[in-house]
Parts: sequence; C-alpha cells; structure tokens
Amino acid sequence: MLGGVMTDARRYPIHETFYSWQGEGCHLGRAAFFIRLYGCPLKCPWCDSAGTWHPQHRPKNVPRRTPEALAEEAAQDRPEFVVITGGEPCIHDLAPLTSALRDGRGLRTHLETSGAFPISGVFDWVTLSPKRAMLPHPSCVAAASEFKIVVDSPDAVEFWVGELEKLGRARDDARPVWLHPEWSRHADTAILGLITEAVKTRRGPFRAGWQMHKLYRADSLDARARPDSSPVPL
Ligand code: SF4
Repeated sequence: MLGGVMTDARRYPIHETFYSWQGEGCHLGRAAFFIRLYGCPLKCPWCDSAGTWHPQHRPKNVPRRTPEALAEEAAQDRPEFVVITGGEPCIHDLAPLTSALRDGRGLRTHLETSGAFPISGVFDWVTLSPKRAMLPHPSCVAAASEFKIVVDSPDAVEFWVGELEKLGRARDDARPVWLHPEWSRHADTAILGLITEAVKTRRGPFRAGWQMHKLYRADSLDARARPDSSPVPL
C-alpha cells in the first residue's frame, strides 16, 4: 500500500482524465491527453493535486480502469502525446499502461514524476520535479529529460541545484532546469525576483517557468477534468 492506494497493475486508480494542452516545460502549448493517477505519499504542503491523496480532498469515488480502456479513451482525442501524472504515478507499475498506449495505440508517452520511486514503463519524455519529502532516486535523475524545481522558499534554487548535482546530474548537462514559482506564491515579487536572478546569473539550462494552463483555465474546459484542489491545509 502506497499513499493510501492498493497498487494493481491491471486496473489503475484514476483521479481524472482529460484532453488539453501541456502547460509547462519544453512541450508547452502542445495538445496532450492527461491521465492523472490516484495516490501520493509525499504530502507536499502546497500540493495543488491534493484530490489525489489528501483525506479531506478525496473524491467520493476513485474509479479503477484497465490500461486498454485508458489507451482507447486517449486515442479517441488524437493527442500529440499522453501525459501520465498524479499524484505520484511511479507508485504504480506503469509498464502495462505505457505498453497499451505505445504498442496498442501508437501514442507517445510523457511522465511527470517527483522521482521518488523508480520508473517503470517506457517513456518518450520524463519531467522530474523533485520534492523535499523524498529525494529523487538516482535512476530517475538519469532518466529525466527536463527538471522542474518548484520555488517555494528563498533557498529552493540553491538547495535543488546542490541535491541534483549530488544525485548525478552533470554540471555541463544541457537538460533544461525550469524554475517555477510555487503557484500560491505566483504573484510574490520576492519569489519571482529570485527566479529572475537565478536565470540571469546561472544561464545555461536554467529557465524561468510558469504554469500557463492555469492562466488559460485550459484543463477545466474538458468536463472530465476535476478542478484543482487548493493548497493543503496541514
Ligand atoms: S505536489 Fe506532487 S509529489 Fe507533492 S504531494 Fe502533490 S502530487 Fe504528491
């Protein structure tokens, strides 16, 4: 049992599925189908997906669906790629799901993970957003296509640069490192200024990031989407 969810490779607990566009990172603005799996043991205090794990936000029902049913639904929208997210999707065995999407339907697969658990399945793209509650596994750092650091405090950039270097991200690595304001602080000039200074002084892979889909309210235009939870009141 992880994050309050029994894992079952043949039927995944689903928080929501929807068709929208990728609002972050290198694939910003591209049409994507999202599969948000239920369950996460990390309990970040500012989580905007608390409906996937927090008892006070848990929906009345968490349906379980087979990989084939999910792949069939995704294929109907003809997305450019499918984003598997959560919660923390890597608490589940993702191999049957990526097989159904890739081999069964010819869909490209993207993963959004904290990196706290080893990655199963086959992915065309991996976004790793590390969290302090459980530092990322070195194999996940090696597999990452891009990094997303949530800047929630003045020391966040320095902390994560140091941690990712220790975990094997080479100093001359060109993989982008996106610096995102933690969303409840997205108008905090201190946090935004910190990101701006970090990009100006570090240059290279460091980039200022944003959750553009939230400005557009793009995800909620699909009736299948469940609205974001507010930050968790811990
Ligand atoms: S932010 Fe991500 S890793 Fe943290 S509790 Fe929420 S779903 Fe889990």
